[in-house]
Amino acid sequence: MTSIYSLTPIKAAEYLLSSGFKASQADNIFKDIYAFGACSFDEMKYTARELVSALSKDFYFEKFICEEICDSESTAKYLFKLSDGNYIETVLMRQEFGNALCISTQSGCNMGCKFCCSGKLKKLRDLTISEMIMQVLYIERTEKIKISNITVMGIGEPFDNYENLCGFLDIATYGHGLGMGAKHITVSTCGLIPKIYEFADRDNNCNLAISLHAPDNETRNTLMPVNQKYPIEELIKAAKYFSGKRNRKVLLEYIMLEGINDSKEQAEKLAELIGDSRLFVNLIPYNPSREDDFRRSNEESIRAFYDVLKKKNVGVTRRREFGGELNAACGQLRSDRIKKEEV
Ligand code: SF4
Repeated sequence: MTSIYSLTPIKAAEYLLSSGFKASQADNIFKDIYAFGACSFDEMKYTARELVSALSKDFYFEKFICEEICDSESTAKYLFKLSDGNYIETVLMRQEFGNALCISTQSGCNMGCKFCCSGKLKKLRDLTISEMIMQVLYIERTEKIKISNITVMGIGEPFDNYENLCGFLDIATYGHGLGMGAKHITVSTCGLIPKIYEFADRDNNCNLAISLHAPDNETRNTLMPVNQKYPIEELIKAAKYFSGKRNRKVLLEYIMLEGINDSKEQAEKLAELIGDSRLFVNLIPYNPSREDDFRRSNEESIRAFYDVLKKKNVGVTRRREFGGELNAACGQLRSDRIKKEEV
């Protein structure tokens, strides 16, 4: 049995044709699930009864269990327990322009970035398409809100779960699915270069973000093991390819770590690397976790770094902080829960 939330438009059409129905009936299935919020086969009102009966033999309506919510005025962090007992986190950010959701793509992560709680716990498994969809649906339905922006930037490396990521994006951007504009979705990678090219060549208009966090190989190697396989010059080349091919800016995420990557010289190097391309930098003050010794750069260093980039005509923003008041870095809720269970 397959979760009905894993049905992409293409898979739905294939299923219908192979089961003796018309491919055009897929729209009614999607309308029932996404527009009218059916949570069981009995609640499907727009899909023909004989088709509902066929679907109920091959699919099921997945339920999501929320174990914990850390809520503050601007941010809510959800800890979900999956059907096999694994945990993931999803973060809702209530912003002026709408509700943004940061979703996970894996339970744990194999990329091993030194500043990240999730990287320390290793990947337990990839999430299915439906588990990515359910993060959005659960929060929309329980909070009674509409999500306007999605960042695929939570636990896991999205390009390490590429097929399911693409299935998720197909449903998210499908008019009868989640119905989101591709430009409101950003996928973030730590730098799996072959997948950046593949994603650029795929027919989609989602945004790309790259976790850069250093302007040279020496520094980046110490922070992000992935850099040893995919060095920074090649990564920037791939980012520029994406930008040219999709005619989009690419966001370079840069966590500011005191004494590690926050000097003016490093800002100069970063500006040189970017040149006059359409890559722009998002400076992120580090949100300390209890599991490493990194410290956030002070205000003066962040300002000086920002000014160097500005002077060199590099597009740069500073991320508004969400979730700091919850005292929880990304992946911290999951990490705490796993440790508690081990004890
Ligand atoms: S920062 Fe992202 S890619 Fe790196 S270990 Fe954490 S979840 Fe994985």
